[in-house]
Amino acid sequence: MHFSDLRPELLRALTALGYEEPTPIQEAAIPVLLRGGDVVGRAATGTGKTAAFALPILERLADGPRGTAPVALVLVPTRELALQVNEALTSYGRELGARVLAVYGGAPIGKQWRTLETGVDVVVATPGRALDHLRRGSLVLDELQTVVLDEADEMFERGFAEDIEAILEATPSTRQTVLFSATMPPRIDGMIRRHLRDPERIEIAAPAVVAGEAPKVTQKAYVVRRSDRAAALARILELESPVATLVFCRTRIDVDDLTEQLNSRGYRAEALHGGLGQEARDRVMGRLRAGTAELLIATDVAARGLDVDVLSHVVNAELPTSPEIYTHRIGRVGRAGRDGVAISLFDPRQHNQLQFIERITGNKISIEALPSVAQLRAAQFGRTLDEVRELLVAGGFDSVATGLDQLLDEHDPAKVAMAALHLATAKSGDRLGEDDIEDLAPRLLRRRTERPERGERPARFDRADRGDRGAGPGERGPRAERGPRPTSAGMTKLFVGAGHNIGLRPGDLVGAIAGEAGLRGSDVGGIDISDRFTLVEVPSDRADEVIAALRGTTIKGTKAVVRRERFAEPGAKKFGQGAPKKNRFNDSTTPSRFAKQPKWS
Ligand code: AMP
Repeated sequence: MHFSDLRPELLRALTALGYEEPTPIQEAAIPVLLRGGDVVGRAATGTGKTAAFALPILERLADGPRGTAPVALVLVPTRELALQVNEALTSYGRELGARVLAVYGGAPIGKQWRTLETGVDVVVATPGRALDHLRRGSLVLDELQTVVLDEADEMFERGFAEDIEAILEATPSTRQTVLFSATMPPRIDGMIRRHLRDPERIEIAAPAVVAGEAPKVTQKAYVVRRSDRAAALARILELESPVATLVFCRTRIDVDDLTEQLNSRGYRAEALHGGLGQEARDRVMGRLRAGTAELLIATDVAARGLDVDVLSHVVNAELPTSPEIYTHRIGRVGRAGRDGVAISLFDPRQHNQLQFIERITGNKISIEALPSVAQLRAAQFGRTLDEVRELLVAGGFDSVATGLDQLLDEHDPAKVAMAALHLATAKSGDRLGEDDIEDLAPRLLRRRTERPERGERPARFDRADRGDRGAGPGERGPRAERGPRPTSAGMTKLFVGAGHNIGLRPGDLVGAIAGEAGLRGSDVGGIDISDRFTLVEVPSDRADEVIAALRGTTIKGTKAVVRRERFAEPGAKKFGQGAPKKNRFNDSTTPSRFAKQPKWS
């Protein structure tokens, strides 16, 4: 499969985005989808799965005037993912005039309704809101050709299974169905059997490693936000002191950006991508070999066929889209019995993909804490002292004696030595900069230990960063069994007097809090929705503001009581022990004792 097989409008969009070739999942899925077949893809964020289903949908959009009802529906677990998929479809389909709409809970339904009425080609929706529109008649699925279930395991986890079933029932039986999921629990297999027709199953195979030929490579990973990549890389390189490094990026645009950022920090970095002619490539390679360049920033396509043996380090500025590509990349170092280091930077949302790469390649990739600037400066000072000691033994510095005599006449010898050391250690200060980078590793590792993995389920580190969260209706049982969650540090639990009785979903509450009190969605903590009330965690220093804001508004058209949760944790613990537990967290319709707020402790 080549991108040039696609219609020219799409090819131009992909070239402008700097994509050079399809990722493995795209290569496998796109031809099947273009033929009209169903696909089940085991793929996490970071594999290029969005384009894998988006491009075939856009490729088959009619040329002339298009109808009002959508031809494709993409169901996603969260508001954030809905927005991301919406953005991807919109940017790929701009020249085609693709009409894409994201619909999710927590946003005004009226505006979504009006856009649906004017005509939409692709709807990207969270299942709850899609069902809402379907029941109100604003979403018409009669013309649907394709349904995509993206991050199916995550949708099941959030209790959307029944909603998805109801939506699929309302679609034409002739539709094409695509399902992507990072894990394949049995419940998903059941849905696949019921709703997909002879699907092509796509899983990226394990790369073949010949015994005894595995390179000797130390593999490390650092969790940093994309925006902190250059600053983080500067610190890591300072720690590693590589001889020469090959840094891989996904797109040409990323290559250019990162090269520019590293150069502005004082690195000698060269960009290498498919857009460069042979002469320019040769020049860049010559500089790396001669040691006048220390970093080579490249796409996979550009690095193919490069024969460089000076490399000590390989860096994945972003995780590669498949384990196979990971293996190829790290095979660039550790050759001929030499040691090599492979470093991967990843966004917290790509933790699944990192675990998948580890599992498939059988490699251990250790997640490291980002070195602090203070640590690096201390290490650097230690190195300088060692160098001075070596030089004192080796000698050969008499040429500076004349100038030194003069200095020693003017100043105290100890002060002179200190000033010289200061100058020597300050030389790489610019490269480090004073960036305040948040190291996300401790958070990630803490979450992993707090929530041990069940079977294959990956740690849901990114959950709090997404829009819809907490238990969906389908999860009321398990939450009831576990009892209420303890309030997180720095957070205050609020009581909101509305729950499943008004069809409240986590996204509605996050939307109301973000919209009315100006918090970011990610500031809102755990949400437990019960029949008639909801408990939600907000940062303690914003609690009063949130209470005031929610009291002044309606949630899903309902004016609800909002106040601080009255029960302290010891009292709350009792929910998990005695009879009140039933009323609080299961579906019982008997009036809840909790609703009257008895004082239990
Ligand atoms: P996804 O797995 O769909 O979340 O995509 C991960 C990232 O890869 C997104 O930032 C995409 O823009 C990017 N991407 C998708 N396909 C390609 C490709 N063929 N080449 C380079 N980057 C890609």
